[in-house]
Formats: sequence, structure tokens, C-alpha cells
Amino acid sequence: MKTLKGNIYTTQRCFRYGQIDIDKGLIVKVDYLEPDALTDDEKAVRIIPGLIDIHMHGAMGHDACNSDMDDLRAIAQYEKSQGVTSVCLASMTLDKGRLLDVCKKLGEASREIAAIKGIYLEGPFISEAKAGAQNPEHIQEADYTLYKELKDASDGMIKVVTVAPEKAGALELIKKVAAEKCVVSLAHSAANAREARLAFEAGATQVTHLYNAMNPMTHREPGIVGAAADCEKVNVELICDGVHVDPVMIRNSFRLFGADRIILISDSMEATGMPDGEYMLGDQKVTKNGNRATLGDSTIAGSVSNLYQCMLNAINYGISIEDAIATVTANPAKAIGIYDELGSIEVGKRADLLVTDDKMGLLEVIGGRTTCLTNIR
Ligand SMILES: [Zn+2]
Repeated sequence: MKTLKGNIYTTQRCFRYGQIDIDKGLIVKVDYLEPDALTDDEKAVRIIPGLIDIHMHGAMGHDACNSDMDDLRAIAQYEKSQGVTSVCLASMTLDKGRLLDVCKKLGEASREIAAIKGIYLEGPFISEAKAGAQNPEHIQEADYTLYKELKDASDGMIKVVTVAPEKAGALELIKKVAAEKCVVSLAHSAANAREARLAFEAGATQVTHLYNAMNPMTHREPGIVGAAADCEKVNVELICDGVHVDPVMIRNSFRLFGADRIILISDSMEATGMPDGEYMLGDQKVTKNGNRATLGDSTIAGSVSNLYQCMLNAINYGISIEDAIATVTANPAKAIGIYDELGSIEVGKRADLLVTDDKMGLLEVIGGRTTCLTNIR
């Protein structure tokens, strides 16, 4: 049994002084206390849920698509050291054979390594017009049979799939995939607002890295961004690394969508946590220079920030600490259907917790299992 005292982030999205009892990796008791029940040192620490990054490609020189189980464990361990205790690993748009292999391996990893919660399938059902850092050669038609093959290869561990809704057959694909409780997310798409709205009506509930790899919102053609803002059930991902989206638009996005509908992601690639130099994203060469990662033609290619840094950036841009935390804990947990287990500090949930100082500097990571779970699950 372990006991923590501090300023606890509650499910009401505010902080209250209290005590958390942890036993066998689970939260077994949460008591909220009067301020005089805590010492000054205890009052000075915040306790928040471990962060959940539902869209990241790699870190520490390892790309999820090219990794063996030890590499994937190294990614999970790095993420944990940075306060990110759960991740979905993202695939790139690869040829069918490789994609099947990647889904099989990442599916196995999702069962072996508790911190890996599933797969984020970024393509291949996307548009060449907005390929971004995805290799256009491997783009596929919207094809439920191929999705099903990938899902079966992963043993059902695909949590999110990115689709360009303007593609022939996309609405049918979206309907079937959404009915199987997999999140359909729009991006790498030149869709207009009407096409996006039809996709949301068909069951899409998310937008992949809002603003990036889609048409901008304008007053005559609101595009995916405008259609998403207009549809209450739709959540949007934001890469808050200081490179992909201007801080002005981070603040405007919180005004337009509200903190409930925003999920911060890192979209991190293998150079994250590594020095400047040459790296790979899928099968494309990327140069890391400071907090930027770019292809040869200067296209931004994934980020080199982890999700904790993205949360700190949002706070620095003026988002409240309370709202910023929701967008990296409860919101992503709800989006991928793991909120009964993670994403808030409540009795019965996994005790993946972070202890921070008052300014959100990370002091301690509790839980976040990165070891083999074969004997536990
Ligand atoms: Zn990505």
C-alpha cells in the first residue's frame, strides 16, 4: 500500500487537497481533506493522471513501424520517463504487406506491454492531394476488406483509423468501421465541409491533427475544420509542439471547440528524445533540427516533442492548467474507450499518476507499466 498526499486533479477538472491510497497498482481510496490536514510541502505538489498520447510514431531512435518488441518497450519507457504512461502507436501509410506485418507486431505489443493501448492507423485510406509526410505511392482506395485484414492481423487492436472522406467508397468504409467501435478520424484529405459532414453523419467522430494535412477553414468553404466545429460529437487532435499549429490558433481552437473536445497529441517521430540529425519516418528520410522535423522539401514531418512538452506548451500559450490536463488525460481516454481504466483519479482505476510541482514540473511518475504482461493478463 502506498499513500500520496497533495493537490489532486479531480474529475471536476479542478484541484483539491487530498490523499490517494494505492494498492497493487490500483487506486483504492481518494479522500479530499481540509488544507490543515496537509503539510506545506504536500500542498505544494500536484497529483495528476498519467498522460495518454493516442497518436505518436516513435521516440529514442525507434519508429513503431520498424521496431521489435525491445524497441517498442524502449519507446514506452522513454514516454513513461516523460510522464506519458499510455500510448497508441501510429503506423504510416505503407504497402499492404508491410502494413499487415506492422499491425500484427503492434497488436502483439499492445497485449505484451501495458502502456501500449493499441494502434493508430494513419492511412492508407487517405488522399494524395494531402499526403503530407505519408508516402503517396502506398495510398489505397477506401476498402473495408483491407481494413478488416489489418484489424484481424492486429487481433482487434486498431483504435483509430484516419480516412479521407472524399474518396470513392469512403462513407461505406466509415459506417462499417465506426459500427465496430473503432474511431474514424478525418485528415490527409482535401474534403470540403459537405463531404466532412457526410462523414460525421456516417460515424466519423474525430479529426486527425486539426489544420494539418487538410484545407484551411474559410468563410465560404469551412472544410473539415469548420464542419468539425459545427458537429458537437466530433473531437479534434492538436499537435501542440509549437511548430505545427501557431499558438494563436491553439487558443482559438480552445474557444471554438471547448476543452472537452480537444485531444492534444505529440505525433512524435523517432527523433524525439534524440540529438539533431537524420532520421526516418516510415520509409522517408527526415532531418531533425531543434524542435522541427522536416522532409527534404521542407514538409513538416511529425513532431519531435513528447506529449508532456505539448501540454506545457499549451499552458505557456495561455490555456489553463486544468483545461490543458483534460486534453491529455480524460479526453484521449474517453476517445479510445479506456476511460473506465485510465484518464482520471478515481477509485478502481489504474494508479498511473504523476506528481508535479506547482508549475507542472514533473517530479515523479507512478505506475505506467512497461514490462511484459504475459503472466498478468
Ligand atoms: Zn501521425
